[in-house]
Amino acid sequence: MQRTALLLLALLASAFSYAQPADVTPIECGNCARWNTPQQPFRLFGNSYYIGTRGLSAVLIDTGAGLIVLDGALPQSAPRIAENIRTLGFELEDVRWVLNSHAHFDHAGGIAALARLSGARVGASTRGAEALRLGTVTADDPQAGYGAGNAFPALEPVTVIVDGGTLTLGNTRIRAHYTPGHTPGSTTWSWQSCEGERCVAMVYADSLNAVAAPGFRFSDSPTRVKQFRASIARVARLHCDIMVPVHPEFGELFARLEQGSDTLRFVDPNACRRYAAAARKRLQQTIADETDSAHVLRAK
Ligand SMILES: [Zn+2]
Repeated sequence: MQRTALLLLALLASAFSYAQPADVTPIECGNCARWNTPQQPFRLFGNSYYIGTRGLSAVLIDTGAGLIVLDGALPQSAPRIAENIRTLGFELEDVRWVLNSHAHFDHAGGIAALARLSGARVGASTRGAEALRLGTVTADDPQAGYGAGNAFPALEPVTVIVDGGTLTLGNTRIRAHYTPGHTPGSTTWSWQSCEGERCVAMVYADSLNAVAAPGFRFSDSPTRVKQFRASIARVARLHCDIMVPVHPEFGELFARLEQGSDTLRFVDPNACRRYAAAARKRLQQTIADETDSAHVLRAK
């Protein structure tokens, strides 16, 4: 009897140790498999590295007094990001902060697992923190209409980094620039990275894409459109030598990676301006389409 009980206990213990933690349970979506394609990590410049997957960005900053990670991609990306951190020779336990661009499942989904694995604190904008604690978007998010499809592992606690505020760790001071539009809490982050005497302005650019769930129209709120345009203008004005967009496909990251080992290959002082110009055009088009469909509706 005792042996059977022991055997049962052992079986139970092994079942638990192999059980997948809930915070890495994969989210299924049309783009998720493509987004989660593995990517070898690489140095962007100085103390800053790309550690994301092929389709979703994540950045590591080695401050000399601990690591900062930007974004966690999908829940199923977290083990890949953790592996990329180790591949670069860093310890997961040295991650002090995980900061978020915006609270959608494809950028915030992996943060709970990364925070659990590393013991790091989580930081976000005021409205971003609100959504991270909920584990879904806030009601005023343009994609709120997707309902349950917006869910991701909820986070608690989340530290708010105010607009224009900075977080200092070791040799790095990273600044939060609130860029609402794609979500109410969207945040672009900037910091300086140096190699010897040479320092460059790094920008982790949040999405500026006007994307809405059915039923939502940006043009219904002139205040929101004005705010969105101000965010786009703000990104265009940033001191920006190397830009990493939250979706690498929105920039030239991988094309430049192919260009060899020149440490300056990611430097592109026009990247933020080009990124903003494309976003301005897209927002304009979205508003024009909304107006067109409104005319059609009224004509019916
Ligand atoms: Zn998004």
